[in-house]
Amino acid sequence: MPDRESLHVAEFLGDGISAELSASVHQVAAALPLDVHFHPVDLTLASRRANAEACYDAAMAAIGTHRLALKYPTVTAEESPNKVLRERCNFSVIHRPVTTLPGVKTRHDGKVDLHIIRIAVGGTYEDAGRRIGDDVAVSIRVIERRPSHQAALYAFRLARNLSCGVVSSSKYTIQRATDGLFEEVVLKVARDFPDVPHHSELFDSLLYKLLIKPEAYRVVVTPNEYGDFLSDMACGMVGSLGLGASANYAFDDQGAVTLAMFDPAGGTAPDIAGKGVCNPSAALLAFAMLLTHTGRRGLGTLVDSAVRATIATGESTRDLGGTRSTAEFTTTICKRIAAGA
Ligand code: ATP
Repeated sequence: MPDRESLHVAEFLGDGISAELSASVHQVAAALPLDVHFHPVDLTLASRRANAEACYDAAMAAIGTHRLALKYPTVTAEESPNKVLRERCNFSVIHRPVTTLPGVKTRHDGKVDLHIIRIAVGGTYEDAGRRIGDDVAVSIRVIERRPSHQAALYAFRLARNLSCGVVSSSKYTIQRATDGLFEEVVLKVARDFPDVPHHSELFDSLLYKLLIKPEAYRVVVTPNEYGDFLSDMACGMVGSLGLGASANYAFDDQGAVTLAMFDPAGGTAPDIAGKGVCNPSAALLAFAMLLTHTGRRGLGTLVDSAVRATIATGESTRDLGGTRSTAEFTTTICKRIAAGA
């Protein structure tokens, strides 16, 4: 029998339901025709309080070695681990897929199948601003060529793979210098992808049209804060803020991904931690994204489809109206994977 392929993944363990999410991911990984080796790093609040520097150094060593990490929810207390990791790893682009999940109740009946590509730095989030006297406050908004280029390149490559177009969105008619620079960079990248249709849309108009006709959008690339707003709105359309996953990427000068970290949306859920009832879907979808990123698109789709199919049949955890425990839900997903989803 030929040796099975191996995959090494740094695993950043956090707080609350983190351990249960990790156990579910391990069970699903074991159901795949692939030897996945997880390299755990303890980023729990207790460990960070004991020696934060040592925790982050260990995280950087693990992701530096394996180039891939799966991160579970962490408590933000003294510092935000997400912010620390973003800065240390130089993550500049966030990819957030948002898709309709059959079986999940929603107020919106359109079909959403959207990839939001967001510059992970700058925009209005770099500067908390300052007061000038009693009645005025100002802040600086930053758009930089390099992360704009990385986000655009990622969006066009993804769109080419998905055989769809790219919409870039910002307020370029008002923020002429900043969003103008972003759109200029996107247009330059678009010239290298003549096979990928592209157009720009004003962000307010995009929000309206997305609500009216979500089927018209697949890949949208935006500056930082717009991507943040858009992600939450799109999650609202599909009925859940906590069922999705996202990917964070750092790039070299040629635009190749150097580090990738995948994480479930949603927090640490301390109220249900340790009870065996949390929904591991977002963590499993993050793992599916990781598999696809490593070139194993077939396995990524297999895991993704098995999660969705299990939710669709109602064999889900109680947050989705089901009765299954985390372990039972995970076992059903593994059976689907074994059956080829
Ligand atoms: P944090 O401070 O880490 O964000 P939180 O509890 O304030 O934690 P969430 O973790 O987002 O915020 O949880 C909000 C609610 O959603 C809680 O009632 C929690 O139990 C529920 N919840 C969050 N994640 C899950 C999950 N994976 N499965 C089931 N319920 C969840």
